[in-house]
Amino acid sequence: MNRVILIKYGELSTKKGNRNYFIKTLFNTVKNKLKGYDVSIFKDRANMTICFNDNDLEDIKNIINKIFGIHTYSVAYVCESEEESIKSLVLEIAKEKEFKTFKVETKRSDKEFPIHSQDFNRILGGIILKNIDNIKVDVHNPDLLLKVEIRENGTYVYYDTYNGIGGYPVGTQPKGLLMLSGGIDSPVAGYLAMKRGVELDAVYFEAIPHTSLEAREKVISLCRKLSAYTDKINLHVINFTNIQENIYKNVREDYCITIMRRMMYRIMERLCSLYKGYAIVNGESIGQVASQTLTSMNVINSVTNLPVIRPVACLDKLEIMDIARKIDTYDISILPFEDCCTVFVPKHPVINPKIDTAIYEENKFDYNSMIDEAINSMNTIVVTDKIDEYSDLL
Ligand code: ATP
Ligand code: MG
Repeated sequence: MNRVILIKYGELSTKKGNRNYFIKTLFNTVKNKLKGYDVSIFKDRANMTICFNDNDLEDIKNIINKIFGIHTYSVAYVCESEEESIKSLVLEIAKEKEFKTFKVETKRSDKEFPIHSQDFNRILGGIILKNIDNIKVDVHNPDLLLKVEIRENGTYVYYDTYNGIGGYPVGTQPKGLLMLSGGIDSPVAGYLAMKRGVELDAVYFEAIPHTSLEAREKVISLCRKLSAYTDKINLHVINFTNIQENIYKNVREDYCITIMRRMMYRIMERLCSLYKGYAIVNGESIGQVASQTLTSMNVINSVTNLPVIRPVACLDKLEIMDIARKIDTYDISILPFEDCCTVFVPKHPVINPKIDTAIYEENKFDYNSMIDEAINSMNTIVVTDKIDEYSDLL
């Protein structure tokens, strides 16, 4: 029997004017992700279908499970939209299944097809009852629910529907720049931003020798996990050592984190203009640490006019950890390598910083030239979910 994967767009289908653009982006994503497999892909306004080789089904399912914009999908059997062909296909499928109760649910989008859905349900149900022993119809809670979709280009019959990850296809929004640390929160923030269609570049601030190469590798591994949800992610590695050392030499201790984060945001803004980023994305969560109180966010945020998207702002740590496990970043995030934020933590960081004090403290050193230098010496690593492509860049 001939099978295809039948994809439903879900939330996509609420878009009116943009609908075609969304579908086209999803189509290109699917095509790109399945490069290397012997597939043919077709799209229309309601569905996408993928013809595949049986051996590749599990691989293809794993890939599809990481494509935003796919709401649900099924593995469907196909035949012509012609009465006798449908009848024999439905019976053939039913004969292969073990069940005591069943229901047939027909959807007829091809209005040329001469039999009404309800009538056809009864006809198909009758054929199954006549040919298979000891079974009966249960319309409320059947063991086997056979869905029959009659369309102009063919009829699709299926009984299992899998959930995709939903959201919008990556690339339907322009780029955002993700502040990616080695922690638990920022990969989750990146995942959630991509779920809304945002394409990402990632930025990692490192302070070698205070932070290790292992810490950088950890961030690359996290980035690789995220890149499975898109095509590739450019990871910009910023050498933050000089700025950080100057902060700790010049700035009063309780303001060090506030100023450090203002410097990060300044660099992020510069990188956004360099790489056409329309927003900064990070893993800040309200109240999680001193620099993430609303007062702190205010003082830190005031160095940029760009929107700062904080997808996990209102989630509990436990909720963030659940998502991290789901996207398989958790085990990497809890590896123990120090990050530049954790190396120089003051004993009592200010919880309610004042903007005037922050400006006064940071003006004690020439941070603008240091920011220029950090950006000029930046390294960019192209990260994909295929390991080999960047291993020699380390
Ligand atoms: P996470 O919040 O991801 O668990 P963390 O606890 O190290 O990591 P915080 O101190 O909570 O990070 O910082 C808040 C956010 O600032 C992070 O989620 C991340 O987006 C950003 N950030 C912190 N440190 C770095 C860094 N070294 N490079 C890039 N971004 C960083
Ligand atoms: Mg955090």
